[in-house]
Amino acid sequence: MKSLPIYECFYAWQGEGVHIGKAAYFIRTFGCPVKCPWCDSAGTWHPEYVPDKIDKYVPFELAEMARNYPCEFVIITGGEPAIHELNPLTTALREVGLGSHLETSGGFEIKGEFSWITVSPKWWKMPINENIEKADEIKLIVEDESTIDRWMEKIGDYIHNKPVWLNPEWSQRSNRKVLKSISDKIKKSGNPFRAGYQFHKLYNVDLMDPNSKPPLPLGGKIENGF
Ligand code: SF4
Repeated sequence: MKSLPIYECFYAWQGEGVHIGKAAYFIRTFGCPVKCPWCDSAGTWHPEYVPDKIDKYVPFELAEMARNYPCEFVIITGGEPAIHELNPLTTALREVGLGSHLETSGGFEIKGEFSWITVSPKWWKMPINENIEKADEIKLIVEDESTIDRWMEKIGDYIHNKPVWLNPEWSQRSNRKVLKSISDKIKKSGNPFRAGYQFHKLYNVDLMDPNSKPPLPLGGKIENGF
């Protein structure tokens, strides 16, 4: 069975979106061609931060690791997990009684059986419309005051009333203009917009598991092209 390159696996809880606060086992795949300038998982792709050695696991091994924990589901994230064939992994997880949640930019064909899909679109690789329609929730990373309107122009027709989380980009989490633009949008439009935040970062819950990797600087260097 084909193995997957894995950056890290750890046990924590979901810090964002509809399933916030629920115990989850995280499988973070290695590799992402999107290269967002504020990426908070730069170790999965950034040339200055990738580890010397990337472990590979067959799906059965990952499922066995996950089943050691009393998690409600497994979150397959990245990097960009959708660059990989994930059907064998979601099948292996299902066989040990675990549902699979996917976190993806939506820019690549989704290959796997998921009980929940979060699409967080990125400007540097526009999402496939079919993935927006397939998603259970949308998570917009709000970088500035114009972000929400710009995304709604691009993907608004495909959302069909599913929850749209508005998360401040982490380096802008105290930017009053960004926070006001999120608040204004929710107060003006109501459903399906939701104010979001990366609560797991306030708790540092990922780091409570020694199997997680230490945090790295956000993203790349725009002037270098990554
Ligand atoms: S934030 Fe962007 S660069 Fe980082 S893993 Fe997600 S899609 Fe890739």
